[in-house]
Amino acid sequence: MATIKLENIHKRFPGVEALKGITEEIRSGEFFTLLGPSGCGKTTLLRTIAGFYRQDEGHIYIDDKLIDDVPAYDRNTGMVFQNYAVFPHMTVFENVAFGLKNRKLPHDVIRQKVKHVLEMARLTGFEERTPDQLSGGQQQRVGLARAMVIEPKVLLMDEPLSNLDAKLRVQMREEIREIQKKLGITTIYVTHDQEEALVISDRIAVMKDGEIHQVGTSWEIYKNPSDIFVASFVGETNFMEGEVQKGEKGRLIIRIGDQLIKANVPVSSKEVRRIKLSVRPEEITLLRDRVEDADSTVLKGKVIKNIFTGPLIRYTVDCGNGINLVSETHRPELKTVIEAGSSVFLKIPIKSILYFDLDTGKRIR
Ligand code: ADP
Ligand code: MG
Repeated sequence: MATIKLENIHKRFPGVEALKGITEEIRSGEFFTLLGPSGCGKTTLLRTIAGFYRQDEGHIYIDDKLIDDVPAYDRNTGMVFQNYAVFPHMTVFENVAFGLKNRKLPHDVIRQKVKHVLEMARLTGFEERTPDQLSGGQQQRVGLARAMVIEPKVLLMDEPLSNLDAKLRVQMREEIREIQKKLGITTIYVTHDQEEALVISDRIAVMKDGEIHQVGTSWEIYKNPSDIFVASFVGETNFMEGEVQKGEKGRLIIRIGDQLIKANVPVSSKEVRRIKLSVRPEEITLLRDRVEDADSTVLKGKVIKNIFTGPLIRYTVDCGNGINLVSETHRPELKTVIEAGSSVFLKIPIKSILYFDLDTGKRIR
């Protein structure tokens, strides 16, 4: 097991700064995910850690040992790529044994290690097949076995599931997670798929434009996003612009369109200012009649559409002034489905509302 320390990593390509000062510590045995949209620098960071790229500034430590000048093949990292990168002319056994043969290990040791890792990747019985006789999922497991067989201190995976179909992706991400936990190997995993990141990770670093916006557990990232970008990229959310106003008895209220809602936004009542609010669809309850609830705030609207997805119904509700909110009702029952065109009230728990500064994008806490 190993810790990885990244200290102010900068990487520039002609015309673009792909990494703008990345500082982070990855813990021993941790499943750490780099999550962000295409082009945000995930692959560049992974390849820099692997030693395929040299950073322009900053330092990388593995187990507190500076590895800036250690070549890729001596860094003791295993890499799994998006496009499998298995050797097409070699059998499964030869593919997996490749790294061990390069290290000139004795034949019986190689056999033993390959056997063990193929079992783990559920590829026993496939030893003599060539990659063209394997499915995408099996090829990717060969890639995984090949990276693991050399017993690297650090496992690096760059979107390893993105070429698989949806069902296999879901199955494989759980397998990868299980194997990683069994081996306890420190892992950095790259994905642009926020759901995959939430499911697989101990901690997630959300990246954009060469910078890390937030690092946290899946729970922290989803429930406690630190800025508008994280709130919008991870999970689905409703954004509304609102104006903080002083209400009756000095209480704060927020004007959204032409409606007023209760708020506990932590800004002073003297400051009348525009802010952005965010509410997750699953927090909003649709009601046919208005309710009074001290812990909730209520908006009025009209259902535009409802979509049944099986476990839930997604309602889109027009709240006027161009504000459309999505609400999800879980375990729907036919007799309570609300039809398009119906007038409704949207009940929103006050504590589920997050507030963001419109100018900086940062969370107001
Ligand atoms: P991601 O993996 O998050 O999609 P990348 O790390 O591949 O992002 O790319 C980050 C940025 O660096 C992008 O703007 C990309 O165009 C640029 N970039 C990546 N690799 C190279 C390269 N070898 N040469 C020039 N620019 C590159
Ligand atoms: Mg990439």
